[in-house]
Amino acid sequence: MAYKTVNPYNNELVKSYPDATSEEIEKALSTGHALYKQWRDEPIADRAKILHKIADLLRKNEDELAKIATIDMGKLLNESKGEVELCAIIADYYADNGEDLLKPTPISTQATGAAEILHQSTGVLMMVEPWNFPYYQIMRVFAPNFIVGNPMILKHASNTPGSAAAFEKIVKESGAPDGSLTNLFASYDQVSDIIADQRVQGVALTGSKRGGQSVAAVAGQNLKKNSMELGGSDAFVVLSDADLDTAVDLAWRVRIYNNGQVCTSNKRFIVADNLYDEFLAKLKDAFAKLKPGDPMDPSTTYAPMNSARAKAKLQGQIDKAIEGGAKVAFGNGPVDLPGQFIQPTILTDISKDNPEFYDELFGPVAQVFKVGSDQEAIDLANDSELGLGGIVLSGDPAHGRAVAAKIETGMVFVNSFLVSLPELPFGGVKGSGYGREMSQLGLNAFVNDKLVVTS
Ligand code: NDP
Repeated sequence: MAYKTVNPYNNELVKSYPDATSEEIEKALSTGHALYKQWRDEPIADRAKILHKIADLLRKNEDELAKIATIDMGKLLNESKGEVELCAIIADYYADNGEDLLKPTPISTQATGAAEILHQSTGVLMMVEPWNFPYYQIMRVFAPNFIVGNPMILKHASNTPGSAAAFEKIVKESGAPDGSLTNLFASYDQVSDIIADQRVQGVALTGSKRGGQSVAAVAGQNLKKNSMELGGSDAFVVLSDADLDTAVDLAWRVRIYNNGQVCTSNKRFIVADNLYDEFLAKLKDAFAKLKPGDPMDPSTTYAPMNSARAKAKLQGQIDKAIEGGAKVAFGNGPVDLPGQFIQPTILTDISKDNPEFYDELFGPVAQVFKVGSDQEAIDLANDSELGLGGIVLSGDPAHGRAVAAKIETGMVFVNSFLVSLPELPFGGVKGSGYGREMSQLGLNAFVNDKLVVTS
């Protein structure tokens, strides 16, 4: 039984789940495929009603769903609640706008007749999702594809099976037909077999480079369309004209939110030399105020890592960075609690030859760099194998935007948090993957854009 919930706050084994059987897999494929054909003849408006119902059920069950996510992977309960609400917002958005976003697109042409592109469903999709936002990661693929009419099979992370089962239950309770979303506690080999099945037309994965490489290779071998949302080591660029207090307030929040386990949470803080010393001092003060504890307790401000494995990996990376010459400006001390805690930590003096310079530190560790010019900041921000998001801080929005335009990532926000909303495309470039989720781009990811010319 590979799928289990082990509460990272107290290391208690909460529940193990049985592995998927071949019969369950065949049922998921056959009901999904039959539903794809059925949905082709049904109006989008019918699915929109169900999607609104899913949003209602998410809101009605917010407390219970939030507790399940927090027990699965340890995030603060309030953050889990926020995640459930975001899922409801995404579902409502596609319910309200899906039909309009999918209407045929006319093309002006020299050909005889009226040319148009119909945006149609393609079939069953496989989705492979990570533990860090155990509901939102599913919803980013689910809501747009449910509206399109692509049934889905879910393979969630092995440490968040409670959330996977809870999401599937909400979909069932909404009255969505069987096969709309089938959660399977599947092995990697079973996932490969599902991708190879001719009834499956695409694969969406969010996860690590290693996971993305394996799943994309299987998708490629089988010529299945795929989108890969992988890691990020996003830059947080503080330009010389930035407001320092705003920068610090944003910096500690982005680094600590979800205990730093966010692909788009900024991991590299690149600060203009005139602000560097004060920025570092104030960031230390902000980190020093954080209080570890039970993520269910509203007074707790930093949570455990999601698993013993994640804690060991991050601690190993911190140790390697220090061996390689990095200095600890704050943190890296013991936390006197039984769970998987890492004290929020600030590292400086990370040179290019440090073994961790190019690594993604997926937890509450801030790497802080000093730069002497905008160009140096841009070059350092772009000196990464990854290219997901980023934040630029400047007292002059036009200056901030000019720098943002030069950063090699899929998303950059100037003077604010990087937010994920259904109308905004989400995804990266370089080693952060390819394709976009959500927005019109994400909606079209697994659509057959079919040309029809009528004379
Ligand atoms: P993994 O890639 O290990 O896991 C993600 C999912 O992929 C899990 O469901 C995992 O299953 C599955 N998986 C991994 N390898 C395979 C395979 N060969 N075949 C089938 N399924 C597979 O990622 P992490 O758990 O390490 O998650 C953190 C990573 O995800 C970070 O690098 C982070 O940056 C990235 N991420 C990217 C986001 C984005 O939107 N771009 C958002 C959030 C995270 P199992 O759990 O059973 O191993």
